[in-house]
Amino acid sequence: MKKRTVAEPYKIKMVEPLKMTTREERRHNIWEAGFNTFLLRSEDVYIDLLTDSGTSAMSDQQWAGLMLGDEAYAGSRNFYNLERAVQEIYGFRYVVPVHQGRGGEHLTARIKIQPGQYVPMNMYFTTTREHIERAGGIFVDVIIDEAHDPQNEHPFKGNIDRVKLESLIHEVGPERIAYIWMAPCVNMAGGQPFSMGNLRQVRDLTDQYGIEIVFDATRAVENCYFIKEREAGYADKPVRQILREMMGYADAITMSSKKDNLVNIGGFVATNDEEFYQSLRELVVVYEGLHTYGGLAGRDLEALARGIYEMVDDHYIYSRIAQVRYLGERIQAAGVPIVVPIGGHAVFIDAKQFLRNIPQDEYPAQALAAALYVDSGVRTMERGNVSAGRDPHTGKHRSPKLELVRLTIPRRVYTNLHMDVAAESVIELFEKREDIPGLKRVDEPPQLRFFSARFEPLRSSEVFGPVKQ
Ligand SMILES: *Cc1c(COP(=O)(O)O)cnc(C)c1O
Repeated sequence: MKKRTVAEPYKIKMVEPLKMTTREERRHNIWEAGFNTFLLRSEDVYIDLLTDSGTSAMSDQQWAGLMLGDEAYAGSRNFYNLERAVQEIYGFRYVVPVHQGRGGEHLTARIKIQPGQYVPMNMYFTTTREHIERAGGIFVDVIIDEAHDPQNEHPFKGNIDRVKLESLIHEVGPERIAYIWMAPCVNMAGGQPFSMGNLRQVRDLTDQYGIEIVFDATRAVENCYFIKEREAGYADKPVRQILREMMGYADAITMSSKKDNLVNIGGFVATNDEEFYQSLRELVVVYEGLHTYGGLAGRDLEALARGIYEMVDDHYIYSRIAQVRYLGERIQAAGVPIVVPIGGHAVFIDAKQFLRNIPQDEYPAQALAAALYVDSGVRTMERGNVSAGRDPHTGKHRSPKLELVRLTIPRRVYTNLHMDVAAESVIELFEKREDIPGLKRVDEPPQLRFFSARFEPLRSSEVFGPVKQ
């Protein structure tokens, strides 16, 4: 029998109309935005694939939960619902809410890192590395080499390279490793998972040296789905059970609830370590709010608690991954170079291959993201030279190996027809790729420059129009 379509396990109850714009208007908008898709107004965007962060559609149950917000300063009932959800689904006894993921990263880095200590990670994430460096720590990438090769089909490109990790431990000494910060479905590698086998090996190794593992658990559920699909022994296990096993190997997790947890804002830190929990409780009051709300309203805590139960529904997580794959496979079938295997939350176009004539110093991924917006009103994000930033010591571009444009799929928001529109735009630009010019920087902030840097095209083109003198 032919493979049957598996559709979404939910239906639409409310719609949000989108503004349709002309190519002329979009060209004007991209100049105004300095060729930086972060600086576009959302209302000028048709299909917003900038990020899957905080862009999820909540369920009727979550919306109903908002009405049950207990907005007490201390001990809100919604906090206890969140605590129970984290205990049951993630398996951690203590939870401290924060306003979003980076709030938890900040507290964790401040508590656990002594200046001069190392923090190995499987690749990097922008805010995570920033918090490591601000706490005086030194970030080290210990991901396997395959992760840096967009064409490598390794099923678990998020894996940690044991040899790299062990040599670091030997070189600097275990006491100079603050902890290992390990991310499931590594964003910067293309949403690539690690395997349970790799995690077990890393746990064995760190146990020998008394080193802790902290997860950036932001996309753990998506990682668990890939384990179910690709790793022997997991096919018949529910994602919920795989998640519990995974979490069992961590000493603590920092969480951006704006991803897996299906809410628009929120995050938490969770652990079974009472000492760490006490330090978190002391520090969270200074930066976020009391330890039973951490910068969130009672209603936000309730929506979050409910989202945590919904995210481990196997039908839901399957349809999410299937939609990302649908978009990726359409683009791939037209010969457009993308990162393979297709990841859990996004399709990543290899901009170096797409725009071979544009050197990395002329920001090919940034240029392609801008061109996509002008072509179809689809907003995407650069993940390359601009996002990687400069080395704090040398001031030079980090010039990462990967120069990508990310088409990130919000959870439960768009239909596959929206995916078709995005795919067709990518394919048409690929056919006319010689037209797309490189960019030059006209303004650059010192930190996290991708949020606000401004650019201009280096020459006139059909897509962006004439260069202004
Ligand atoms: C989004 C994200 C963060 C930061 O979380 P915020 O909620 O945006 O502050 C950290 N790590 C990863 C992997 C993320 O995707």
